[in-house]
Amino acid sequence: MILKFFGVRGSYPVSGKNFVKYGGHTPSILIENDKIAIIFDGGTGIIDAGNYINQNEKIKEIHIFVSHLHYDHIQGLPFFKPFFNKDSKKIKIFGPKFTEDSFELQIEKFFASPFIPFSLKSIKKGNKISFHTFSSKKETIKIKENITVRAEFNKNHPKHGVYILSINSNKKKITYITDINITESILNSVVEFAKNSDILIFDSFFTEKEKREEPEIGDFGHSSFEDGIKIKKLSNSKKLFFFHFNPNCTDDKVTKLEKIYCGKEIKMAKEGLEAKL
Ligand SMILES: [Zn+2]
Ligand SMILES: [Zn+2]
Repeated sequence: MILKFFGVRGSYPVSGKNFVKYGGHTPSILIENDKIAIIFDGGTGIIDAGNYINQNEKIKEIHIFVSHLHYDHIQGLPFFKPFFNKDSKKIKIFGPKFTEDSFELQIEKFFASPFIPFSLKSIKKGNKISFHTFSSKKETIKIKENITVRAEFNKNHPKHGVYILSINSNKKKITYITDINITESILNSVVEFAKNSDILIFDSFFTEKEKREEPEIGDFGHSSFEDGIKIKKLSNSKKLFFFHFNPNCTDDKVTKLEKIYCGKEIKMAKEGLEAKL
């Protein structure tokens, strides 16, 4: 597996000279496994993931998993170029249902006029694109004999919750936990989900001090760098990438935090960063 970070920023995209080192795109990571691309989240980073896929003849199948429907996790979807290819790539998109509408219908409402000048239906015409709604709180999706994705619902993100995700392939595991407020009541289930990950990607929107000094922030549904370190340790995960940075965190601030929190097994995610497993 090759993991590629295409978007590591939370809440909304940022740009400009203060956001060059870590990047300004909202969440999207790509895991390349033989001829298959597995993408977690469709933030603006997915636009570059799509460009990468279009330049990579080898990739024949794309599986996109959406953790929840906040803008920063779906905003790039309408600009994902492989949707517009009339080629043989098969695209499957999985995601939650938080209202009466199916996942597809929720996305269809987002892909619509007057917000954008085309519809999801027009993109789907003649393409091999299919939508799949998570049907339960714990899903295991077999993509291929040796590739499995797990999605597990967690309530600790306002208002509708979030799915945490992991991929297993050839005895290697990558876990993706974002947009979640780690509290005592969910700690054990999250640790269990992340158990023995080779790579843990974790929501690091706050420092613990910021989280404590602004108690209402807990309602915002995010974690701290300290939460990430705790979960890495308790879950016996090998490597941790901090991810989903606060959009107010300039390069200078993330660099300062890197000196405090990072080390051999703990790194800051950044756009363009790759990890091989
Ligand atoms: Zn987010
Ligand atoms: Zn969110």
